[in-house]
Amino acid sequence: MWILRRYAFCTFTRAAAQQIPVLSRVSREKYKEKRRMKYVLVTGGVVSGLGKGVTASSIGVVLKACGLRVTSIKIDPYLNTDAGTMSPFEHGEVFVLDDGGEGKITFASFTSVLYLYWGSWKTKPTQHSVRELRALGLIPHFLACRSAQPLVENAKQKLSQFCHVPVANILNIHDVPNIWHVPLLLRNQSAHDAILKQLDLLSVARHVDLQEWTRRAETSDNITKSVRIAMVGKYVGLTDSYLSVVKALMHACIACSLKPSIDWIAASDLEDDSAKLTPEAHAAAWKNLRGAACVLVPGGFGDRGVKGMILAARYARENSVPFLGICLGMQISVIEFARSVLHLDKANSEEFDPQTPDRVVIFMPEGSKTHMGSTMRLGSRRTLFQTPDCIAAKLYNNSEYVDERHRHRYEVNPDIVGSLEEAGLKFVGRDESGKRMEILELQDHPFYIGVQFHPEFKSRPGRPSAPFLGLVLAATGQLEAFVKRQQNGNV
Ligand code: GLN
Repeated sequence: MWILRRYAFCTFTRAAAQQIPVLSRVSREKYKEKRRMKYVLVTGGVVSGLGKGVTASSIGVVLKACGLRVTSIKIDPYLNTDAGTMSPFEHGEVFVLDDGGEGKITFASFTSVLYLYWGSWKTKPTQHSVRELRALGLIPHFLACRSAQPLVENAKQKLSQFCHVPVANILNIHDVPNIWHVPLLLRNQSAHDAILKQLDLLSVARHVDLQEWTRRAETSDNITKSVRIAMVGKYVGLTDSYLSVVKALMHACIACSLKPSIDWIAASDLEDDSAKLTPEAHAAAWKNLRGAACVLVPGGFGDRGVKGMILAARYARENSVPFLGICLGMQISVIEFARSVLHLDKANSEEFDPQTPDRVVIFMPEGSKTHMGSTMRLGSRRTLFQTPDCIAAKLYNNSEYVDERHRHRYEVNPDIVGSLEEAGLKFVGRDESGKRMEILELQDHPFYIGVQFHPEFKSRPGRPSAPFLGLVLAATGQLEAFVKRQQNGNV
C-alpha cells in the first residue's frame, strides 16, 4: 500500500513485435517468447510536470519507429471510476477514450524500469531516490534524467556507478525547443537499442525510422507566421482544462505551417454586466475577440459564461468570422441562432433553464445497456453525413461517416431542427437514428461549424483533426482551395 501511495502514478508502454518474420522451426519457441507482450513501466516521484508523460509517449514513438506495436496504459493512484465528476479547475482536463473511459490528463506517470528524475549537475538526490526505490524492491533498468542543459559525460558516469545502471541506460532529457524533439533526443542516445535489448526485442525490430518526426520537429521550430485564435470559455484561468483542444489547434496549425496564437477570453468578460462591473476586462475581451482570425467555443458544463459565449457565437455569425463550437459550443450556437434568427427570445438549454418554453437543447439520455447508471453519453459514437456536399464531409476526407468521442448529457431538440434548417442552420451530421444532431453548418458563411462530439481527443501530431484543420484553413483564407482539391479527389 505504501508503495502504491507513494509511487503509483504509472504509465506502461506495452510493446509487441508487429511483423511476423519467416522462422526456422528451432526459433519458433524463441519467437513465441518475443511475441509476448512486453511492458515498460515509467515512473517518477510524486511531483508532476517533470515530463514523465512526454517521456513515456516518446519512448512509445521511438519503439513504434522500430516497427513495434505500442499502446500505453495510465495508472492513477486512486480508483478512477468517474474522473468526469472532478472539477477541471482542480484537475485539468478530462480526457475521453473510445470506450467511454475518462481520465485525468495531468500527466503524472510512473516506472520501475525507467526512473525519471529532474536533476542539475548534482547527482546526489538522484542517487538517494534510486536507493529508496531499490529498498522497495523496484530496481530500475534505466534512468531518465531531466535537466535544463545536456548532462556532461562525467555526471552520467557517476550516476551509473552509484545507481548501478549501465551508462548506456542513462538517458538525458534536456530542454528542447519543443516536445517533438524528445523522441529524437532518445534516438540520438540510442535509447531504442538499449530498451529493445532490455526487452529482448532487438532481433524483431527494424531500423529506427523517425524521418516524419524529424521533419515535423524541425518545421515547427522554423515557423514564423501565426494565426490568432480566440478561445472563449469558462475555465480560461486554467488553460490545462483545454489541453487537448490546445494540442489539436497546434496539430492543425503545424500542418498549415503556422503557429497558434491563442487569445484566452473569459466568456463572462464579454457579457453586458461586465461592461458595468469590470469595464476594462470587458473592453479587453472584446478587443481580443475582434482582433482574432477565428473563434472557438470549447466544451463545458454549467451556466457560467454562457451569455458571453452566445455573444461570441453571434459576433462570429454576423461578421463572417470562422467559428468552431465544440459540444457546449455547438449547443451555444443553436441557442444563439434560435434567439436571433428564429426570434425565440427565451430559447435555451434545459441545462441552464429547465423551465424555458423554448427548449432548443434538451436532456436526451441514452438507453444503452452498456452505460447503465450514468446519464452521460460517453465514448465513441458514429456520425453519418447527410450529404457529401458540406464542408465537414470534405474535411473528413469525403467519408460517409465518422467516429468521434462524446461526453455530454444534452442535445439539440429534434423537434426544432426543421425550423433551424429552414432558416439556414443545417444539421449535416447525425447519429444512426437520425435523431441526434452531431454536426451543424451555417449556410452562406465561410466557416461556421458546430460539433456535438469532441474531435480534439483523436487529434495527433501529423494527423490533425478535421474540424480544427478547417477552422485554421478558413482563418487563413485557405479553406476554399482545400475544399476544391478535396472535390477533385486529389488530396
Ligand atoms: N454541458 C453540455 C452537456 O452536458 C455540454 C457538455 C460538453 O461540452 N462536454 O451536454
